[in-house]
Amino acid sequence: MSEKLIEVKNLKKYFNTPKGLLHAVDDVSFDINKGETLGVVGESGCGKSTTGRAILRLLEATGGEVLFQGENILKYDKSRLRDLRREMQIIFQDPFASLNPRMTVSEIIGEPLAIHKMVNSKEGQSKIVKELMDTVGLSERLVNTYPHELDGGRRQRIGIARALSLNPKFIVCDEPVSALDVSIQAQVLNLMQDLQKDLGLTYMFITHDLSVVKHISNHIAVMYLGTLVEKASSKELFKNPIHPYTQALLSAIPVPSIKHKKERVILKGEITSPINPAPGCRFAKRCPYAKDDCFKVSPELKEVVKDHFVACHYYKEINNM
Ligand code: SF4
Repeated sequence: MSEKLIEVKNLKKYFNTPKGLLHAVDDVSFDINKGETLGVVGESGCGKSTTGRAILRLLEATGGEVLFQGENILKYDKSRLRDLRREMQIIFQDPFASLNPRMTVSEIIGEPLAIHKMVNSKEGQSKIVKELMDTVGLSERLVNTYPHELDGGRRQRIGIARALSLNPKFIVCDEPVSALDVSIQAQVLNLMQDLQKDLGLTYMFITHDLSVVKHISNHIAVMYLGTLVEKASSKELFKNPIHPYTQALLSAIPVPSIKHKKERVILKGEITSPINPAPGCRFAKRCPYAKDDCFKVSPELKEVVKDHFVACHYYKEINNM
């Protein structure tokens, strides 16, 4: 049986704004098995990045639990949190913005080793940096270059090498290929998959693009306005999407064959405000199947087929189940 590395239980993150309380993440629960990838998908502003940052404690959660290897890390004090930082890392979307332009490749990759006192000499650090560069496919001759001298793919490889430098178990990958050209996206995704196999890494892979996570994810969680609306294995979700929002997302993926082409679902209607949201389904204003009670009662995430969870009052009718 698969071993759980991460268990997120009823995670909440609210922000105070001049207009009221913004519910960025509301009661989100999921597990990630050791050595596997959970793809977290949704439009910009759905709370997927906030969820990732709250798990890593880069943002403090408003409520809920995050268990890492069985321990609730939201209760960790500063010193335990410092040790935890080695185990849990992040790769950002825009490698150019996340890398210090005044530091060389070697300094960027070596910085976490120095901060966490993982090496006791310059020579030791330089040796590990070169090994990491080799692991992510960066030529050693680039060791003294600066981020602006490199293309997007190489910059993202620096971000990956830096994330790997402390030998983590878990990495939040926050849209790591969205800023890259399609051909370079494939190279970086392949590299990440190879590293996962070789190093036994566990990923939470955040993206707005379902097609990107299809092959890299074991499971996929779909988020809409701070809530989880559907969760299943990647294979099952692509074969049998049940929630109307997931169906709309999937219909937007280009299919090469005309035979298998599905009609694209264009979502209309205004987006519900995440500030002091009223009870009810947050997707109701855009859902073509919404009925009166969808605006009054929030649907719970329920297992509707084995290991396939959906939050919708009318999933049976919509899918002729
Ligand atoms: Fe649509 Fe209602 Fe289901 Fe929400 S609960 S997805 S509004 S049918």
